[in-house]
Amino acid sequence: NVRVRFAPSPTGPLHIGGVRTALFNYLFAKKNNGTFVLRVEDTDQNRYVEGAEQYIIDSLNWCNIPFDEGPGKNEKFGPYRQSERKHLYKQYADELIASGNAYYAFDTAETLDFHRKDHEAKGKTFIYNWHNRLKLSNSLSLSAEETQTKLDAGEDYVIRFKSPQDETLHLTDIIRGDIKIDTNILDDKVLFKSDGMPTYHLANIVDDHLMEITHVIRGEEWLPSLALHYQLYKAFGWETPEFAHLPLILKPTGKGKLSKRDGDKLGFPVFPLKWTDPKSGDISRGYKEDGYFPEAMVNFLAFLGWNPGTEQEIFDLDALINAFELERVNKSGARFDPDKIKWFNHHYMQEQSNDVLAESFKSQHSELAEIDVNYIAMAIGLVKERATFISDYWDLTHYFFVAPSEYDEKASKKAFKEDTKPLMTQLIEMIDGIDDFSVVNLQTKIKGWITSNDIGFGKVMMPLRLALVGALQGPDVFDIMFMIGKNESIKRIEKVIN
Ligand code: GLU
Repeated sequence: NVRVRFAPSPTGPLHIGGVRTALFNYLFAKKNNGTFVLRVEDTDQNRYVEGAEQYIIDSLNWCNIPFDEGPGKNEKFGPYRQSERKHLYKQYADELIASGNAYYAFDTAETLDFHRKDHEAKGKTFIYNWHNRLKLSNSLSLSAEETQTKLDAGEDYVIRFKSPQDETLHLTDIIRGDIKIDTNILDDKVLFKSDGMPTYHLANIVDDHLMEITHVIRGEEWLPSLALHYQLYKAFGWETPEFAHLPLILKPTGKGKLSKRDGDKLGFPVFPLKWTDPKSGDISRGYKEDGYFPEAMVNFLAFLGWNPGTEQEIFDLDALINAFELERVNKSGARFDPDKIKWFNHHYMQEQSNDVLAESFKSQHSELAEIDVNYIAMAIGLVKERATFISDYWDLTHYFFVAPSEYDEKASKKAFKEDTKPLMTQLIEMIDGIDDFSVVNLQTKIKGWITSNDIGFGKVMMPLRLALVGALQGPDVFDIMFMIGKNESIKRIEKVIN
């Protein structure tokens, strides 16, 4: 029974890398009829940011990848916030001390700093491990009495994992295969602090075990922790879940990791939703508010590190669930291409019905308040392929709703010749006589008139288009005339020549 978890720390808005991790967990769970758990890793109270948890939940919901179990939902293995599980962790730290896998350490920050600098000066790195342990102040270097005295006196302590000397660890990752680690280079990582809080490592392993997580799918930045996590499972005598570390997401240049700050610098969002920082009030853009569809975001993120092995690029959620395999996730970093998500958005826009698009478009423009939504939908139908965002529609369709008030200068020069005015006057008369104002009939009549009088198409069509649109752009002139109707068409031609 597959159980996976997404375990963000609520230290700020979830960036798209986090959404990608959540998505891959979700896809793997659904593909295997498993359960997708949200666990909030909020043990570090100093980094806690108000509103971040809600933001994470809102983001998952917007992407249509909701969790099955988590805060406030199906709390079988709850609570799902580590701050509410605080009382649980100490006993596990104690268990490791009792079994000889962990120890108390009393070193002050100054002492550790001194050793670090001292090593650095000699061109070495200080590692708190078998090599240095006995020179420091901890329950392995002190007698049992000395240790007890310090504890009784309420001295600050941490509990460290006792990393073994001269062993080779064999780790397995679904994406990266077998990994060998020499334990001599490992730090004795801190598991617990005297303020009563576990560190990430202890809380994460204890909770993955208690929540019966079968597969840990997370970002590559956690790969260096894998050796410790393996050893913790072994020390507890627990079954180790399977691991998959997803590749880094790289900047559009391909050089370096995409960071939370890149968005503002490079002009695209790096967050799913808009975020207002509770302290500074700074606002970060979100894909949702920038006019992207969640389907586009999900399809785009799925391809950051995964591919189906075929040419197919369009995958809705169901198709993704069907095709997704962790074995097909790459090891190497995935370059973030902000133009590619536009391409997906363009695709998913075309899939929406004109009516649905018209409703959103109408709600965004007060100028459209009085206009029939069916009429708006017809206008959208004529320009649909040219739009990537709903916000593109106004530029593409405004002349269906409002007569042009000015004319593009270059276009005017091109369209207006000496004989334009008399020609347009004749055209008005001709149009006035057309009763059946359908697209086909307009086309037949106007084209027929041009040909039989040997006028030349450009001489009529260019000023006509300019009159209707205000520029030499837009869909078929006859479609536009049909849409705005006879009176309005005539009015606009009169205006352009006077
Ligand atoms: N709390 C960690 C994070 O913020 C979780 C890492 C993991 O999935 O083990 O990413």
